[in-house]
Amino acid sequence: MSYVVIKDLHKAYGSTSVLANIQMTIEKGEFVTLLGPSGCGKSTILRIIAGLTEATSGMVSIDGNNMQNIRPKNREVGMVFQSYALFPNMTVKENVGFGLKMKKVNQQEIEQEVRKMLGIVNLLDKENAFPNELSGGQQQRVALARALIVRPKVLLLDEPLSALDAQIRKKLQSQLRSIQMELGITMILVTHDQEEAMAVSDKIWVMSSGEIAQTGTPTEIYTKPKSEFIANFIGNYNVFTRHELEELIGQELPSVGGKFAIRPEAIHLEDRSTNYKLRAIAKESIMSGNVIRTTFQADKRSFSVEQLHQRAHSFEIGKTYTCYIEREDVIALT
Ligand code: ADP
Repeated sequence: MSYVVIKDLHKAYGSTSVLANIQMTIEKGEFVTLLGPSGCGKSTILRIIAGLTEATSGMVSIDGNNMQNIRPKNREVGMVFQSYALFPNMTVKENVGFGLKMKKVNQQEIEQEVRKMLGIVNLLDKENAFPNELSGGQQQRVALARALIVRPKVLLLDEPLSALDAQIRKKLQSQLRSIQMELGITMILVTHDQEEAMAVSDKIWVMSSGEIAQTGTPTEIYTKPKSEFIANFIGNYNVFTRHELEELIGQELPSVGGKFAIRPEAIHLEDRSTNYKLRAIAKESIMSGNVIRTTFQADKRSFSVEQLHQRAHSFEIGKTYTCYIEREDVIALT
């Protein structure tokens, strides 16, 4: 049996259903992410696992134990929120040791564990600081240490990095992942940021309107989107109807699929005995760091092409180009 099992989970507020038919299995030591747009029900799942919200129906089990009728504090589940939620009148050391103090662990052992945790989150030099003397990223590392010190069976992270600026967020993503691997803790992260999900997860559960839309490793989700929703949400895919694409390439496509997705970086300019080609006008190029995204227009359809900045072909706006696509890069959507 998997370490965390969610079965037939439903949640409604009055007559409004917010979660329908959620099935999840998570293995011990896995880092999984619930990814989806705001309001799709991600936090509600976390809150149900933690026992903070009651499900309308369905079952949650952790380490073989059914969580029904088990109070939140007895679930051995930790939680980290976007807002840090540190105790403002306690030092870093006292914040981190709080959970062990509540468990009546002796003072010497608390000190030892606190130092170990502060070492792991790289904050030993801040042990006597108060939360308001720390940056957002440092406060979140304190919150993480405070949640981890009691060795929860599962750590739930609800958008923990969303309030931080991009550079700190990237750094903390990789720290979070290495701490998780070092301690072997099962973690469930909620985020609306697909890059964050890709960067840290063993497995991603993509959600849409209260349902699981697709599950897989980051590579599977990115390279094999099943639906238009996933293709748009995950990878800025170009999505065409069969008719549109057949008209553009002047060929019939394989019999499966009503819509087709093509990654912007899969459309290129070299004819390597390539399967499909189309003529299109370069409309606009935007440089975003290492990638240049160019919008093309063919008939009434526009699509984007991405190239690494370093090797980019420079397009003359208004000029017509022949673009090439390999057959295996045309993904049939269901
Ligand atoms: P997410 O975490 O994906 O942003 P949530 O799980 O917070 O989404 O919310 C899912 C849906 O449930 C939203 O439409 C939200 O408005 C609704 N919802 C959440 N909590 C309540 C509540 N206490 N009462 C009524 N509706 C709620």
